[in-house]
Amino acid sequence: MAESFQYIQNEIRRKLPFPLAGLAELAYNYWWSWNRRATKLWEHIDPDLWSEYKNPVKLLLDTPGEKFKELLRDDDFMTLYDLVMEQFEGYMNPTSTWFSTNYPKWDKPIVYLCMEYGISKSLPIYSGGLGILAGDHVKTASDLGLPFIAVGLLYKHGYFKQEIDRDGKQREIFPEHHPEEMPLNPVLDRNGNRLLIEVPIEDRIVYARAFEVNVGRVKIYLLDTDVPENSPDDRTICDYLYNAEMDKRIRQEILLGIGGMRLLKALGIEPGVVHLNEGHPAFANLQRIAWYMDEGLTFTEALSLVRGTTIFTTHTPVPAGHDRFPIGEVKRRLSGFLAGRDELLELGREGDQLNMTLLAIRTSSYVNGVSQLHAEVSKKMWKALWPGVPLNEIPIEGITNGVHTMTWVHNEMRKLFDRYIGKVWREHTNIEGIWYAVEKIPNEELWEAHLEAKRQFIELLRRKAIERNERLGIDDPIPAMDENALIIGFARRFATYKRATLILSDLERLKKILNDPERPVYIVFGGKAHPMDEAGKEFLRRVYEVSLMPEFRGKIFVMENYDMGSAKFMVAGVDVWLNNPRRPLEASGTSGMKAGLNGVLNVSIYDGWWVEGYNGKNGWVIGEETTEPETEAEDAKDAESLYRLLEETVIPTYYENRGRWIHMMKESIKSIAPRFSTHRMLKEYMDKFYSKAMSNHIWLTRDNYSGAKEIASWKDRVTSAWQKVELRGASVKEGKLEVRVYLDGLHPDDVRVELYYGVRAQGYDIERPHILELRHPERVGENEWLYTHQNSALKHLGDPCWHYAVRIHPHHEKLPHKFLLGLVKWLGLD
Ligand SMILES: *Cc1c(COP(=O)(O)O)cnc(C)c1O
Repeated sequence: MAESFQYIQNEIRRKLPFPLAGLAELAYNYWWSWNRRATKLWEHIDPDLWSEYKNPVKLLLDTPGEKFKELLRDDDFMTLYDLVMEQFEGYMNPTSTWFSTNYPKWDKPIVYLCMEYGISKSLPIYSGGLGILAGDHVKTASDLGLPFIAVGLLYKHGYFKQEIDRDGKQREIFPEHHPEEMPLNPVLDRNGNRLLIEVPIEDRIVYARAFEVNVGRVKIYLLDTDVPENSPDDRTICDYLYNAEMDKRIRQEILLGIGGMRLLKALGIEPGVVHLNEGHPAFANLQRIAWYMDEGLTFTEALSLVRGTTIFTTHTPVPAGHDRFPIGEVKRRLSGFLAGRDELLELGREGDQLNMTLLAIRTSSYVNGVSQLHAEVSKKMWKALWPGVPLNEIPIEGITNGVHTMTWVHNEMRKLFDRYIGKVWREHTNIEGIWYAVEKIPNEELWEAHLEAKRQFIELLRRKAIERNERLGIDDPIPAMDENALIIGFARRFATYKRATLILSDLERLKKILNDPERPVYIVFGGKAHPMDEAGKEFLRRVYEVSLMPEFRGKIFVMENYDMGSAKFMVAGVDVWLNNPRRPLEASGTSGMKAGLNGVLNVSIYDGWWVEGYNGKNGWVIGEETTEPETEAEDAKDAESLYRLLEETVIPTYYENRGRWIHMMKESIKSIAPRFSTHRMLKEYMDKFYSKAMSNHIWLTRDNYSGAKEIASWKDRVTSAWQKVELRGASVKEGKLEVRVYLDGLHPDDVRVELYYGVRAQGYDIERPHILELRHPERVGENEWLYTHQNSALKHLGDPCWHYAVRIHPHHEKLPHKFLLGLVKWLGLD
């Protein structure tokens, strides 16, 4: 296998004349995918091959050597080539980066694990939002200079290519990918042989090979088991992304988590920080714990070490969206790995299931949801893990998603931004002030750029429709689209909670909306349903069926095979981006961010990122501006609201008040591009999570793990004493609070005693509580301490509107969060 890679790379090198040798290097780095000039360079070599492959390795492989000799005499090409290579060299060898400036002392890698990555259309190892987010995360880590390493799986068939047949049924085509023709390098051992990782599954060893993908300065390692050393069945573990078969899925997750960590070890990489993106890779932490135990640490020490250095991001508010497996099934597959250490699995136990999210939460200190609202929803979902802890103090934060601006900005918009903002926006994307300069773009120029984006999207739609008609032998003409008409776009996975068919609820009304000759409107749908999601497929079929009705022909379009390639055109080439999930099921959503930064106006339910993104001027809200959960019964209300919004506001503004529309486009760009960029997001992960986990790592591991030992013995002491720790009584005399606390052998330094008070609120105990630490206790008996406090804080005591309580919880200055252990006791004062 390594030989065939070598062969292909030699082939390419042999073919390239010396002055063009750099193309071989450029082809093996996805940096080109967010650099317009580099993309143009590939296009220039052979526009047809390029548009077919979008894969530079295959392009170079299939272009005859003669062609390169010709290109040497093509001045335009050579100029472009020199420019691109210079830019590439500069990017790869910076004198400083955001990271090196802000975190100069850091020398350990941040390891990121995820089941899917959306880097480019040509690397089909993503299915939707999660993967695209991971891809954008990696690209930004490269831009900012983070010491970042990503780990994933390479799927033989990747995610499917969607075809829609004559009846609107989705057909899934699983092309077979040949790794040697992709921009991947096999990972070799010191002797130049293919590196094989050994992953224990049941009582055998499953072997995995690894590939390396360069994404700018960051590497993604992808594992795969298709090697002759494995049984035929084990060779197919990585055949498909999100295999619905439980058995395969458990093995995939073992491969990603345990295999992923073993690969890093084989490469001599010791993670400083580990970021689990979704619960799928959570077995990685079992491997890390097991290794530390092999080094002689106790379970609690190892767990403290792993927990203090792990970040976990949860992505779904849908309870069924979290992976759960019968614990016996997991135990059986992990038997060789566990080798009797069954207690490791208890970390993820939920009844007789193993819950991957639970496992991830219990082995992480830094947990986040992907929008502020999603964090709130997640706190409610997992609150049982922190009994007695008020909701707003549950250690789950919100770090709102973003998008990689250079990947998602349309070329026409990019040119305008360069001209009117200056190129600073590319590097300092998240600085809001920079984007005020959008105001300087003349309205006509912004509109012309937008129209050009629309024309390109219409052209893409047309090309795709022609291809489909040829495939199916349909010879109806393709209805033309008028670029001046209002186009509504709806594209994302066809999951039912996203309610693709909401706008089809009242076809009579929709007919009137779309067919007004003075104010025509189009709707374009795109998206794939998961192969096993029959309800999602039925939604797609329904949308397709409606698009063929005579009154909707040429008005409603269904675009096949929505992927990163077509998304790039679509998110910039429509006027309105429609998003109508059932609240609160859209944890964040990112496609609306891509649209918004291109001046496409969001029309969205008040859910996910839009709760933060909407500012009253940059788009519209369907239904009410509330975050209350909705039931299916409310679909009709939302549909009504959507129709009204279109009829009374969106369409009239588009047709009768172009000035206002353009003003809103500018608002959209200004408010969305900086805040919902992955530049902002990554800096937030860095400042709130990675940097803390890194200092934990230093403290926990130094002097032969003295920190881990200290905190573990503290935890053991506190947890065994906790049951007897007691708030024995509190009294207030003459404005002086006295609390007697029984500590059962603990020292006052091991705990915090706090006064917790505020105005009572409906639904909550206290809306905005004041928390006051009580200090300097006096020893008043064997293990008994008296805390006193005198201040005006107590003046409302006795007022029925106010609520007062005292609480105690364990305290250690190195504990990442005060409620990490989930221990707290309360005593009401009134
Ligand atoms: C951005 C993107 C998504 C995610 O869209 P959501 O709005 O978050 O559902 C899915 N698929 C593709 C191809 C995308 O580009």
